[in-house]
Amino acid sequence: MVDTVFSYGELGFQEFETSKYLTEILEKNGFKVERGIAGIPTAWMASWGSGKPVIALGSDIDCIPQASQKPGVAWHEPLIPGAPGHGEGHNSGVPLNILAALAVKEQMEKNHLSGTIKIWPGVAEELLGAKAYYVRDGYFKDVDAVLFAHVGTNLGARWGEGGQTGLISLQYNFHGESAHAAAAPWRGKSALDAVELMDAGWNFHREHLRPQQRSHYVITNGGDQPNVVPQSAAVWYYFRELDYDHIKGLWSDGDRMAQGAALMTQTTWDETILGSAWPGHYNKPMAEDLNANATQIGLPVWSADDQALAKALQHEIGAQESGLDTELRTPRPPSPTASSESGPSDDIGDISWNVPTIVLSYPANIPGLPGHNWANAIAMATPIAHKGVVAGAKVQAMTLYDLMTKPELIAAAKDYFINVQTKTVKYKSLVRPEDKPATFMNKATMEKYRAEMQKYYYDASKYPTYLDQLGVKYPTLTKPAK
Ligand SMILES: [Zn+2]
Repeated sequence: MVDTVFSYGELGFQEFETSKYLTEILEKNGFKVERGIAGIPTAWMASWGSGKPVIALGSDIDCIPQASQKPGVAWHEPLIPGAPGHGEGHNSGVPLNILAALAVKEQMEKNHLSGTIKIWPGVAEELLGAKAYYVRDGYFKDVDAVLFAHVGTNLGARWGEGGQTGLISLQYNFHGESAHAAAAPWRGKSALDAVELMDAGWNFHREHLRPQQRSHYVITNGGDQPNVVPQSAAVWYYFRELDYDHIKGLWSDGDRMAQGAALMTQTTWDETILGSAWPGHYNKPMAEDLNANATQIGLPVWSADDQALAKALQHEIGAQESGLDTELRTPRPPSPTASSESGPSDDIGDISWNVPTIVLSYPANIPGLPGHNWANAIAMATPIAHKGVVAGAKVQAMTLYDLMTKPELIAAAKDYFINVQTKTVKYKSLVRPEDKPATFMNKATMEKYRAEMQKYYYDASKYPTYLDQLGVKYPTLTKPAK
């Protein structure tokens, strides 16, 4: 499963092959699958069993632009230059959850236990694109606990908050008037000027923002050609902060920059929400249960080949040559200075404020990598990922089984959720009733590359592993001489 999903390499909202493949496996194993949930064609909710408790297992499935990479070799070598690839490792989490769920399902059948297992995908996580809509449309209303899984380099789950931001992802669209840029430039109103002025305004504004914010942008439409004054242009921003009010603050600052830029250029503007996320807060009793299970399972036993690949890649990118983790690291407790830290986001945050939730981090990748990069794809269809997923699946299965069989654990999780986590903070969605998932995103890119990528889909009926299909000797540590 890990190798197959790796070979599909699909960007957010375009995970059609991935979803088809994984839901068919679930159906073959007795799960009922509702497809296209929350108006997202590649999303689904699979369900098995009946009655309480209802435990939902989730993980992301989308990949990274331009991260195409041959697995098992210790340098940058795209399978297809420019194509997307699993440069984050989102090919591994749903396979892990399926493995865990099938093991627990077998036990539940044998012991006639009541309870419902749900499995769902984080569609377009890299765009923070889906989970707020799952919540808004009620898909977690009847769920008692969520076990999320995300690829990492060690084994465990942290609790509380800190180090994770929430965000609003917005595209600002400017509308002007075209004209011949040489013959009658005075008749044009440049939407691109508005984009550049908005960005200049934002970059001056940064100096006066809290250090906790993170904001970044790309220009998604810069006009057509130089001799036509751009009548339309657009810039896409991520505004990140630590809580709802500060995110809303950045959002209104952004709107003010857009307004100012429009005034200066006599253009008009509007905005489109492309994604959103709340900062995560994770459940303490559930994390403690999971970490006790992780202690029993321990890290995988890495072979000399696994360590050699890890060290060769770390050497290649100038990271510390520490190899793969060999000691279980208990996740750090929430930092007392969490309110001054910033960092990345994950829209699992939205779910964590509606249902007691934890995130299992499992050792399927190499430490010290930059993230969102070809280097993060190298281990993801090798024995490193396979062993890490199996170790993670064991921990996930044990925790799922605990939740199914220990009502006191569910009660403690709910008590923490109600009396600690949400005592003073109440969830308000960042998406508005009129907003829709941005399912049009990445369509053109996938259409450009899909035919070429199909030639590299893994055929498990012919090859024992994807490395065999690609003819990669594991591990390949030195570049062939050209
Ligand atoms: Zn991720």
